This record gives sequence, C-alpha cells and structure tokens, in this order.
Amino acid sequence: MLFTTSWDDGYALDLKLASLLDRYRCKGTFYVCPALQNSRQMLSEEEIRALAVRHEIGAHSLTHPKLTLVSQDAARREISGSKEWVERVTGRPCTMFCYPKGRWNDSVRALVQEAGFLGARSTQAWKFSATDPFTLPMSMQVMPFPVRGSFRPLWKFLLDPFCAFRIHWSALNALGIPLIARSSWLRLAIACFEHAKNSDAQFFHLYGHSHELERFHLWEPLEAFLAYVAQSNVRCVTNGELVEELREKRA
Ligand SMILES: [Zn+2]
Repeated sequence: MLFTTSWDDGYALDLKLASLLDRYRCKGTFYVCPALQNSRQMLSEEEIRALAVRHEIGAHSLTHPKLTLVSQDAARREISGSKEWVERVTGRPCTMFCYPKGRWNDSVRALVQEAGFLGARSTQAWKFSATDPFTLPMSMQVMPFPVRGSFRPLWKFLLDPFCAFRIHWSALNALGIPLIARSSWLRLAIACFEHAKNSDAQFFHLYGHSHELERFHLWEPLEAFLAYVAQSNVRCVTNGELVEELREKRA
C-alpha cells in the first residue's frame, strides 16, 4: 500500500508541516494558491521554492473560486494560469491540480486535462482506491473529531457539538469502523489505516490544512499518526507519484 498526504491553500504553516513530514520520511503534496485564504499568512514564493526541494507543489487555481460557477474562459485561466505560476515559482513541472473547495464537473475536469496536468485531487473522502486520476479521492481529513473544534459560534456548537461524528456516521459504518475507534481522531485514523492495509487497498491518502492543525490543536495527534505509519510497511509517495503508479498498473 502507498501512503500519500496533501495539504491545501499554501499557508505559511505548511513549513512547520513539511518539517514534521520530513521527520517521519513522509511526502506531501502542497496545493498552493497565490490568493490570500482565511486571512492567514501565506507562503512566499521563496518558501514555496524551498518546499519544492523535498515535496511536491501542486496547483490550486489563482483566486480559489468554485470553478463550477465561473465561465469556461475564467475556469481555463484559473487552471492553466495556476500551472504556469507554480512552474515559474518552483522551476519544476507542475503535474497535479486540486479543485478549489472540492468543486468540479465534467467540463472543469476536461479543462484540467487539457491544461496538461496528469491528475487532480478531489475532496471525496473515505476512499482507498481510484479509477480516474482526475478525480483522485482521499482517505481522510485531519479534522476535529468527534467533537466540533471550536465553540464559535456558540449556537452552532450547542446545536450540534458532534457534527463530524454524525456526518461521517454511515461512511464509517460502511467501512466497519468500530464505535470505540471513533472516540478520537487518532484512534479513527489508525483504524482506517488498518482497514486500508487489511483490505489490500491501493493507498491511504491523508489530507488537511495546516492552519486548521494550529487552530484546532491537531499537531500532536497528526505526529502520533505519522509515527504509527512510519512503523508499518508502506511506501510514502507524493500525489503525483501515486497517480503515475496507478496509471502504470492499469497500463
Ligand atoms: Zn483550497
């Protein structure tokens, strides 16, 4: 089984994340976007270049729009323009794209292929295999679980404190994840990883946002999970390497 990770938007905290991945010999694909996201500090072009030495840099559009809601021309500019931008910044080919906000349709998918990418990541979760490199799914997100990560706004917390637990209930039932494994994110991640290994899955694909790791205090559980993965017999690859291997297997 292959192990891959991907991280969205290009926050400055991706540098801390990259050091953590390096410590456990894991690879990351960082989908960066030049536009400011969530009022957070973003990576500078110099930092993106430094990140590209050990990890993969993927494109994530120029302004992070829902590509299904903009015109065909605007979508084409966002997709091709972001490939050119990443290639100019890193001086390396950029082969992977990530749909902003996970939004894609057949026409957007076709534009990504037309722009010369080899694959694109979607936000479809709880998947351990792929058939289409242009809708590469992921296995799970690093997120607050099972309790909502923030008290703000308070009414949302009070109305639905276990929203993640509720939203993912049926998907986790379908995977046969026991209730005890749903008591923390780390237990859940280990149970899903073991499920993937035991079912001879193609890959385990972890995804997230570095600013959420900071905001929701998820650095520790993530590090514990990476240490767990490092002890098992899996090979760590970037999203681009994963797509290449899946393509070779199918050929
Ligand atoms: Zn994004």
